[in-house]
Amino acid sequence: MPLPNYFKDRYKDWKDNVFPNKKNSYRFLEKEGQNPKAMIISCCDSRIDPNKIFKAEEGDFFIHRNIANLVPSFESKNISYETLAAIKYAVKELNINDLIILGHSSCGGIKHAYQLFSKEIDETESVLDKWINIIKPAYEILDNHLNKKDCIKSLEKLSIVNSISNIISFPEINDMILKNKLNIHGLWFEISSGNMMYYNQESKKFENIY
Ligand SMILES: [Zn+2]
Repeated sequence: MPLPNYFKDRYKDWKDNVFPNKKNSYRFLEKEGQNPKAMIISCCDSRIDPNKIFKAEEGDFFIHRNIANLVPSFESKNISYETLAAIKYAVKELNINDLIILGHSSCGGIKHAYQLFSKEIDETESVLDKWINIIKPAYEILDNHLNKKDCIKSLEKLSIVNSISNIISFPEINDMILKNKLNIHGLWFEISSGNMMYYNQESKKFENIY
């Protein structure tokens, strides 16, 4: 199967018209290596692009994407190590000082988790269902008085907080936080409005960034 023309055409346009203006920057990054400002863990969702939201240039952010922007806990078993490997590389090799978990509205992964845990759909042995299990502790503290739509929105945010707790559960990461070498941030982005909320770890609430 040949590469679809969409990719060829878009790439050619970039190489002919964008790359020439950025050539020096790319050469510098190749020669000197990367020195990103922060690590961002975001969802695979095609509507969320951290580089666009934060107006990034090449080399600005070390980005890891997975379904529902999750971080498993230190105690997790039978789970993919790729997210943990990415975090470890970022903090140990790249000396990242800021690690952002970027969640978002209408997240398919979070909705799937809600449907699974509320028994709207049956759990299977699929890798997706196993992955989504990371969200379970967040689901268990949901306010059940909320309607379904608000429950899912709340779960999107609680899951970010859960992932922050999971990151901190790694002793060597926690050690870096205590020594002020690493800051963990939780953000939630609303697609339709473009609004961003920040998790205040003191008040334990999500607040508008500005
Ligand atoms: Zn998502």
